[in-house]
Amino acid sequence: SLYNQVIDLKGSIRVYCRVRPFLGQSNGQSTVDYIGENGNIMIVNPLKQGKDARKVFSFNKVFATNATQEQIYSDTKPLVRSVLDGYNACIFAYGQTGSGKTYTMSGPDLMTEETWGVNYRALRDLFHISKERAEAINYEVSVQMIEIYNEQVRDLLVSDGSNRRYIRNNSQLNGLNVPDACLVPVSCTQDVLDLMKIGQRNRAVGATALNERSSRSHSVLTIHVRGRDLVSNSVLKGCLHLVDLAGSERVEKSEAVGERLKEAQHINKSLSALGDVISSLAQKSQHIPYRNSKLTQVLQDSLGGHAKTLMFVHINPEINAIGETISTLKFAERVA
Ligand code: ADP
Ligand code: MG
Repeated sequence: SLYNQVIDLKGSIRVYCRVRPFLGQSNGQSTVDYIGENGNIMIVNPLKQGKDARKVFSFNKVFATNATQEQIYSDTKPLVRSVLDGYNACIFAYGQTGSGKTYTMSGPDLMTEETWGVNYRALRDLFHISKERAEAINYEVSVQMIEIYNEQVRDLLVSDGSNRRYIRNNSQLNGLNVPDACLVPVSCTQDVLDLMKIGQRNRAVGATALNERSSRSHSVLTIHVRGRDLVSNSVLKGCLHLVDLAGSERVEKSEAVGERLKEAQHINKSLSALGDVISSLAQKSQHIPYRNSKLTQVLQDSLGGHAKTLMFVHINPEINAIGETISTLKFAERVA
């Protein structure tokens, strides 16, 4: 049953590593030496010699460059489905810009169903199962979509995309952590596609070619599920946060001035706050430092307790990315 699948997730925090393929013409030497069956990945650092050149990192699972979107989702499904049983969950995409975060979460384009990412597959699956259970439970699914940029929360689903709408109210209301962001009911994948187009358009506002906004902000798609048992009338609620994180790359000191420096500091602070929260949950600490960033505040009741967390860490296998690859894997090792 679904319940057993949830129990099978063994522990509430899982970390998967996904290696992006080489793009286009660049078919160079890879920094990935081998991927083991058991979730191990060996990285070779061309800048180092001897035994320091190779290092093994361990995860719940490692997906090689040929993994399909379908395979990625099939290992994510139990967690997504647990939301229909009243669990809260978060799925994160972590990695440097260009490592494949958006590919995993959304896919390369909205129109091609075969390459849809986790977001669309999750919603399609939730619709499918709620139809199957319709005789016993009446499910309502609704979504919110926000962006966190420089520690400010912005609603991406307001239909007039020309207006920035920052969220001011951070108090909890009706079980929503961001109560004044649009909450839109959805019942089929077409509804979702329509909304995503609005979200993407709003996200692009203010972005210039030089300063691509999407890599400097966290985007959070939240799926709220409410199920009413048709016999007992009891109601269960679950929610799933699908988070495409800001790029984890450190900026060059010389490059980081003005706006860029401020953005980099905010990203740094919020990613390390997320790492601190997840690692203190993993260590079952008494104090979980949720208050240190907007991101962890927004996700607070879906991180810890009975909630499930899945982190996809993405790596770019190209040699010039080795520095970021190692620091990504070190981050992941801390939360795993
Ligand atoms: P990020 O969101 O981390 O900045 P993207 O998801 O935009 O990175 O990926 C960067 C580029 O690599 C895009 O052109 C994307 O389509 C491509 N890409 C990423 N992951 C894969 C993959 N698994 N298979 C094929 N192409 C990929
Ligand atoms: Mg992206």
